[in-house]
Amino acid sequence: MRRFKLGEKRPLIIAGPCSAETREQTIETAMQLAQSGRVDVIRAGTWKPRTKPGSFEGVGEVGIEWLNEVKQATGLPITVEVANRTHVEIALKHGVDILWIGARTTVSPFAIQEIAEALRGNEDITVLIKNPMTPDINLWEGAVKRFIKEGVKEENIGLIHRGFSYFGHSPYRNPPMWHMLFEMRSRFPEMMMICDPSHICGCRPLLHGISQQAADLCFDGLMIESHINPDKAWSDASQQVTPQDCITMIDNIMWRAKTANDPEFNDELKLCRQQIDQIDSELFDLLSQRMKTADKIGHIKKANNVAILQSNRWEAICRRTLSRTRGMGLSEEFVRTVLEAIHLESINRQNEIMNSK
Ligand code: PEP
Ligand code: MN
Repeated sequence: MRRFKLGEKRPLIIAGPCSAETREQTIETAMQLAQSGRVDVIRAGTWKPRTKPGSFEGVGEVGIEWLNEVKQATGLPITVEVANRTHVEIALKHGVDILWIGARTTVSPFAIQEIAEALRGNEDITVLIKNPMTPDINLWEGAVKRFIKEGVKEENIGLIHRGFSYFGHSPYRNPPMWHMLFEMRSRFPEMMMICDPSHICGCRPLLHGISQQAADLCFDGLMIESHINPDKAWSDASQQVTPQDCITMIDNIMWRAKTANDPEFNDELKLCRQQIDQIDSELFDLLSQRMKTADKIGHIKKANNVAILQSNRWEAICRRTLSRTRGMGLSEEFVRTVLEAIHLESINRQNEIMNSK
């Protein structure tokens, strides 16, 4: 029977190097983290999925032996990434407490199926599943379901949000796309959700901000990469922090309670929520009226054989709305997003009208 049980500690703090590189680096990093008393689980990658061949691809099995030395000295559970059946067999042989599934593996149903089957008969093992590289919520859900189907208990499965790969400009290595997380939470409301700020940020200065956001959004823990000499790390050097900086960061995060019993807080919240519900219902009444008017315009355009998209008119709407909403406390990005959604819906409806008999 394994001792580690997901959910017993909140927030759950997992920390350790991106990769186990040498015995000294692994043990020294882990011991400094463990001695702070702020870390609950030690992580290290021993098989590394690297983008290009020829990079450091991990030390393999011996890395788990180093982690086990730390476990023996500190009593802390350990976790490694597994990406195939062999990894699972080796990790189980060494009594690894928690297995994590990397983002490059969650995208592959074949790999997930193989790992899940290799875990048969080990329903007490804890499995943390990172989101897939691509923002495809169904792939993530599918991975969770494959593990459950092969017998891993749902209560022993946790999710790790490590951001999504994105082609374009972003200050983040893998932008967080929090709305995907809200969707995942509604699909698995009881599942522990851990944030990995290191792979989201890809750099040190943004780590605290993302970690605090995760705490504000009610995440259940963090997985942070830490290295005794981050600049010299053999993988993910720019996002790793020294154990000391890691501890300082952890100490500076304000964790929020899921709820509070204070009656004053609950009354105030109830009132605000009633207001929100009222405003939402008025908003949608207005949107419905707006769409009916757009439909009317669609019929007039059809009768007069006029094209749907009138770019001058659309540009004028944007200009006027943006200038009116300036100073209202709404960001330009938000105003544009809402306007574009409304405009698209109007265009789609007018298109239907044009093409109807
Ligand atoms: C890691 O945790 O070191 C790792 C490879 O992460 P990801 O799968 O999120 O890229
Ligand atoms: Mn890494």
